[in-house]
Amino acid sequence: MNDSQLVMKFGGTNMGDANAIRHSASLAARSIKQGVHVVVVVSAMAGVTNQLLSLADAAQSGDIARANDEIAAMRTRHFSAAQELGAAPDSETVREIREMHETLRQAVYGVYLLRELTPRSRDLIVAFGERLSAPLMSLALEQQGLRAKHLTGGEAGILTDTHFGNARPLANTYERVKDRLTGVMSAGVTPVVAGFMGETEKGAITTLGRGGTDFSATIIGKALGVDEVWAWKDVDGVMSADPRVVKDARNIEVLSYGEVMELAYFGAKVLHPLAVTPLQESQIPLRLKNSTDPDFAGTLVHASTTNEPGRPVKAVTAIRNVSLINVQGAGVLGVPEVVASVFTAIARENVTLLMVSQSSSMSNVSLAVPSMDAERTLRALREGITGELKVEEQPGVAVLAIVGSGMRGQRGVSAKMFTALAQSDVNVLMISQGSSELNISVAIDGSEVDLATAAVHNAFNLGQAVVAN
Ligand code: ADP
Ligand code: ASP
Ligand code: MG
Repeated sequence: MNDSQLVMKFGGTNMGDANAIRHSASLAARSIKQGVHVVVVVSAMAGVTNQLLSLADAAQSGDIARANDEIAAMRTRHFSAAQELGAAPDSETVREIREMHETLRQAVYGVYLLRELTPRSRDLIVAFGERLSAPLMSLALEQQGLRAKHLTGGEAGILTDTHFGNARPLANTYERVKDRLTGVMSAGVTPVVAGFMGETEKGAITTLGRGGTDFSATIIGKALGVDEVWAWKDVDGVMSADPRVVKDARNIEVLSYGEVMELAYFGAKVLHPLAVTPLQESQIPLRLKNSTDPDFAGTLVHASTTNEPGRPVKAVTAIRNVSLINVQGAGVLGVPEVVASVFTAIARENVTLLMVSQSSSMSNVSLAVPSMDAERTLRALREGITGELKVEEQPGVAVLAIVGSGMRGQRGVSAKMFTALAQSDVNVLMISQGSSELNISVAIDGSEVDLATAAVHNAFNLGQAVVAN
């Protein structure tokens, strides 16, 4: 026996069907059989979260037939996975899956009757993805000869605030998670926690934002003070660019917490932007590993990073579907109160600001926001700001960012980025550099994002191994 503890998180692809779940369980079992205490955290089966969101929208718009068809298809998918993982038709797991689909159907019917989908009811509906996949992982672990117990996020102790759709853990979460999970583990049972979800103090189900299972895993990792958190992925780890966009993207061996946060914030979908925050406080390393190549080291994320000489930039990322909101007019000129009122209005709406720029004459403020928040932002600004100002949206934009702590104090990095963009005929709409010098971001036309990503990746030689000189 040894006393090491790991949290292992399995994403949607790793939970895609019975075979994928069986393989994921075998990865956890490998460590458990070596005496490591493992907490397993799971995402919904691939595609289920999007399906739940879309069926909830269908119910809200009155199309209950479509919503019910989708629920029936989901039920079949979960039943067949359970059956392939050895569950008998009259087993507890099959009964549980049936009951959850029934509750889901009722919740969706409520949305249909009211023609109202609040963030609270959306969270209740969307969290069923993870609640349904957790029992499947328990089955697969049991097939490996292990004892397992599945828990919802709330049952595992994750308490959050009431920001439905984007909830944050409350301070007392950590103590609760520790109590509940050590209770299960001390009986020799492996906990399987439904990721992405938590619960308010009143017991309402919340979700932690898209990709939130990464966050669940690190919250649990901090609570238990584990040795490491491992996030199993369908890629080699964090890559120098999205491998779907740039074919020669390479794995990054080591990143600091700060670097990975910037990468995730600027669109690298591989990790939830807040996932490393609990680990940062307790200095617990995170590893991103490829489930199809488990012996490959993947990416190690911890407090420090290594900077290869001649490689100031580690990765290039992009956020699509962005809008620029331009606030202009003589009223902005030299009046700090106007600028203050812009930010107050934004803060009230809880909109994520991707970039901000103000011209030096102060006659213009531009904000980059996700397009889905643009209307809300426009409304808030038109109502909330003072003076004779024009507020306009420019949709169809993308934000491209280069990230790497090696660019701190280095000259010529932005010049290289702009030259690469200019040579590809990509027009730059807005520029920003964080004072931490961990990133430089630019707003460009959305239709040019893949071309620009490839050009910048190439300009910094990110597709090639560093040659020592
Ligand atoms: P999981 O369900 O395991 O969390 P995700 O689909 O959320 O998996 O994240 C993994 C995906 O993120 C990859 O398949 C890849 O296409 C995408 N991705 C985007 N940018 C990057 C990047 N820089 N490095 C690695 N993967 C990236
Ligand atoms: N299933 C959720 C999502 O698709 C959470 C996650 O996968 O991390 O966003
Ligand atoms: Mg993810």
